[in-house]
Amino acid sequence: MAIEVMNPFEVAIAQFDEAAERLGLSQSMRAILRKPKRELIVNFPVRRDNGDIEMFTGYRVQHNITRGPAKGGIRFSPEVSLDEVRALAMWMTWKCAVVGIPFGGAKGGVICDPHTMSRNELERMSRRYATEISIIMGPNSDIPAPDMNTNPQVMAWMMDTFSMHQGYSVPAVITGKPLAIGGSEGRLEATARGVQVVTREALKDLNMLPDRCSVAIQGFGNVGSVTARLLAELGCKIVAVSDIKGGIYNPSGIDVHLALRYSKEHGNLSGMPGTERVTNAELLELPCDILIPAALENQLVGRNAARVKARLVVEAANGPTTPDAEAILYDKGVTIVPDILANAGGVTVSYFEWVQDLQRFFWAEHEINDRLETIMTRSYNAMRHKAREQQTNLRMGAYLLAVARVAEATELRGVYP
Ligand code: NAD
Repeated sequence: MAIEVMNPFEVAIAQFDEAAERLGLSQSMRAILRKPKRELIVNFPVRRDNGDIEMFTGYRVQHNITRGPAKGGIRFSPEVSLDEVRALAMWMTWKCAVVGIPFGGAKGGVICDPHTMSRNELERMSRRYATEISIIMGPNSDIPAPDMNTNPQVMAWMMDTFSMHQGYSVPAVITGKPLAIGGSEGRLEATARGVQVVTREALKDLNMLPDRCSVAIQGFGNVGSVTARLLAELGCKIVAVSDIKGGIYNPSGIDVHLALRYSKEHGNLSGMPGTERVTNAELLELPCDILIPAALENQLVGRNAARVKARLVVEAANGPTTPDAEAILYDKGVTIVPDILANAGGVTVSYFEWVQDLQRFFWAEHEINDRLETIMTRSYNAMRHKAREQQTNLRMGAYLLAVARVAEATELRGVYP
């Protein structure tokens, strides 16, 4: 529910340009890193259950593959656009670099409303889309994963489709798969676990105690719902959560397990007993200490930023804060843990899944979580150090680290031929 619509690619470019300027990158390096390397647009037919044929449009954009194969999720949504996918692909490049994993950035999406499609229609669309993008996809070239409205089952269909074309199983072509076909322990929770780690670290910096903090979370999907549970485990009081239909609020706290059960039984959170109904826009302005956007882009914008009450915003979603909103939030003294670090737990465990698939050797859940914790804590500290050293905010700290790493790799590899 974008309150103000801003082109996410323009936001991504503006963020990059600021980092490039601070780093003193040459004009040619800026030109290289501003452009997505490959952009594939696919239009393809899918048979509906009633026999009708419908045309769908999908995208796969690889922003940069200098540090390794392209990596990034696939989104199914009516709001998908080429510029949104470009922005998300560019953010993936910086995200992989800021946590130091050897991937480049990519993203994909199909313009569709999965809630109006049957399971069979969804399967046919997923398989056909995977076929269409398989010309640039592969375990050494481009490795998709889940994002909004896609899940382990969709990943399983895509992995199977790719494998059928090869004639043998290629589990490493996609991550976020079910465990039974080469998925990783901990992947489902990974993004939220990363959010939990960086929230805990940010609270330490702010001298705030988790058990004295109230939290509002927008989005109750893979990332939002698990974040709610893990922050409740940390001692925080979850006062509001929401999904596409709206939010629920209780200043005395919401039982996350009950909310999960209610949402599963009723298809959404609306009307959960003991809670007050709020809109998604109202949720962002509720009294709370920590605000976690975990749905989509352009939620904290110029129009509402001044009314945000939280002291800490942790960007579990990609691109939830526009640059004008960010300026207002900084003026108010709000700390923002930026998306490229805050939600990097997902791609980090995707990297572990890819490594396990390639080695045909699987790790225990505690090993996954320990390694994730180490990487997220180390990356958070490096970001904070950079931000302090350069007297800037955390987002710019993260960008300075990430863009410098990609620029160094680009410099070392040189321009071919
Ligand atoms: P999801 O599809 O599992 O959940 C999305 C949630 O947002 C749902 O509760 C949905 O109802 C809600 N939502 C959808 N449209 C909305 C709207 N217009 N207004 C308010 N709420 C709306 O998706 P997810 O995987 O949890 O992804 C959420 C965000 O996290 C996205 O920005 C995604 O790019 C980002 N992210 C996801 C992962 C991952 O591993 N899944 C990793 C990194 C970042």
